[in-house]
Amino acid sequence: MAIERIHDVVILGTGLAGLRAAMELSLKSNGEIDIAMISKVQIMRAHSGCAEGGTGAVLRESEGDSLELHAWDTVKGSDFLADQDVVERFVELSPKEILLLEHYGLPWSRREDGRIYQRPFGGHSFPRATMAADKTGFMEMQTLYDTLTQFSNWTNYHECFATDIIIEDGLFRGITVIEAKTGQCLLIRGKALLIASGGTGCLYGFTTYSQTVTGDGQALALRAGMTLEDVEFLQFHPTGLVPSGILMTEGCRGEGGTLANKDGERFMANYAKEKMELAPRDIISRAETTEILEGRGFEGPDGLDYVHLDLRHLGAETINKRLPLIREVTMKFLGLDPILEPIPVRPVSHYAMGGIETDINAHTRFENIWAAGEVACGSLHGANRLGTNSTAECLVFGAVAGHEIAQYLKKKKTCPDCPAQRVDTIEKEIFDDFLKRNGKENPYEIRRQLQVIMDRHAGVYRDAAEMQAGLNKIAQLRERFKQIAVKDKGRVYNSNLFNVLETRNMLILAQVLLMSALKREESRGAHSRRDFPKRDDEQWLKHTLVTLQDGEIKFDYKPVTITKWQPVERKY
Ligand SMILES: Cc1cc2nc3c(=O)[nH]c(=O)nc-3n(C[C@H](O)[C@H](O)[C@H](O)COP(=O)(O)OP(=O)(O)OC[C@H]3O[C@@H](n4cnc5c(N)ncnc54)[C@H](O)[C@@H]3O)c2cc1C
Repeated sequence: MAIERIHDVVILGTGLAGLRAAMELSLKSNGEIDIAMISKVQIMRAHSGCAEGGTGAVLRESEGDSLELHAWDTVKGSDFLADQDVVERFVELSPKEILLLEHYGLPWSRREDGRIYQRPFGGHSFPRATMAADKTGFMEMQTLYDTLTQFSNWTNYHECFATDIIIEDGLFRGITVIEAKTGQCLLIRGKALLIASGGTGCLYGFTTYSQTVTGDGQALALRAGMTLEDVEFLQFHPTGLVPSGILMTEGCRGEGGTLANKDGERFMANYAKEKMELAPRDIISRAETTEILEGRGFEGPDGLDYVHLDLRHLGAETINKRLPLIREVTMKFLGLDPILEPIPVRPVSHYAMGGIETDINAHTRFENIWAAGEVACGSLHGANRLGTNSTAECLVFGAVAGHEIAQYLKKKKTCPDCPAQRVDTIEKEIFDDFLKRNGKENPYEIRRQLQVIMDRHAGVYRDAAEMQAGLNKIAQLRERFKQIAVKDKGRVYNSNLFNVLETRNMLILAQVLLMSALKREESRGAHSRRDFPKRDDEQWLKHTLVTLQDGEIKFDYKPVTITKWQPVERKY
């Protein structure tokens, strides 16, 4: 029998979005609102702590930047799929977040004149990556967490793995989690739920993401009857370290780093003459892939051919001051000092533009459910996100969600009940079905094969035959998954079971991604099809919506919100 816990608000995820929302709820209620904070890892181990390069915000209107310019860069970067009302709200709120964190003690990097330093980033027309060297996410997490510790209104459910969201009659009723240290199932109820559980990077083998980023929130939402949006748009970051996939921040190029092929040519001149290495990520990832496919890359291990990221001309002082993490990582992982040698890089799975559908207030279609951060799709990033806009999005829409939920709680005095029989069914499925499975298939092998399929069949360039072949292979994996063995039958710290539940989530999301991509017969942003190489605004200037109905994946579409900027050709 699950142990029941009741709070005002349940927050799934303690990354930047979850922590920022918790801070807003605490500040707004002076610590009165009772919050459950759930994370499958220790609270500060969320992937947000890995964010490196910076957080996008307009701080220098007197020096030539403007909210309008940030909005335009974001809309153009999105290949015109972003909802423009959301973009406008975002650019207006993000500078406030930088100042708020400054006031709470975040040590932003400084210019000589003592003001906050901002560096250039891809697709931005003005330097607006606000940073703490190349450890921005860590400092942001630390500042939010420190601030939260002044309050005692929140309960820390860390190392608790969420398995299911329970919705009944259009209302969130509870979330079931397995507490790692006891193996006990908990039912955590609340008047409102915020889903802030991060991205899907680990659908791919070659990724910048932590092992934990497996799209659980998206899969839980889908299974609970919620709508996912634009899942086909998966960003490849142009500079993943070969062979590990560790991110070499765009800040490297922001500080002046260049890319070269094996002939020593700065090939970006052939793809984005003006912006060169500071073109948006989709364009640079395609350029690198083309160079490699046409034989101008370096031969890498396991087919991971690469190009060079060269920082040598920046000099030791800039590298040590602005990119210390990059130097530490390349030295530790490759024994390579970027002051002396170029770095081997290639496109790497990085960011999910799509996610749980929300409106401009981070609200979903369900009365008491909100979603914010990478798990959500507002849609701020459309078909391609600009660097720095994600941490900023987490802060902005984490705060917006916190504010909206605080308002909602003023009207809602009671917590909706949760039918016991729903919880029983979930517990049976986990402990009597999954935990007891003794089949012949190794779940880790299935997960690895899924990642190989995604690397190969849903990559930088796509076409119908490749994607269909990928879908067929996933269908086979889903069949084989029914025959898995869970070797660890214990209850305490059963990471074996958690990995199996993650793989279940990944299998459905991979299928949704490929099906959405196959249906979208055009090229836009990160979704680039060889068989439909052009953007097609007549047919496809619309968002993909996906739901699960009686086990079947169903598609629908909705229009893009355009306020000021009509789609034009995207040149850099
Ligand atoms: C290496 C790297 C560098 C980056 N650099 C930048 C940058 O410089 N600028 C920028 O704007 N963006 C950057 N990004 C992207 C950005 O960091 C992320 O999009 C953002 O931090 C996501 O935050 P989040 O709060 O949505 O989720 P996360 O920080 O991923 O947190 C997710 C939370 O959900 C919890 N969770 C997930 N599933 C479950 C489950 N089943 N049960 C319980 N808990 C669960 C996790 O434990 C975690 O607490 C970078 C990303 C990476 C990987």
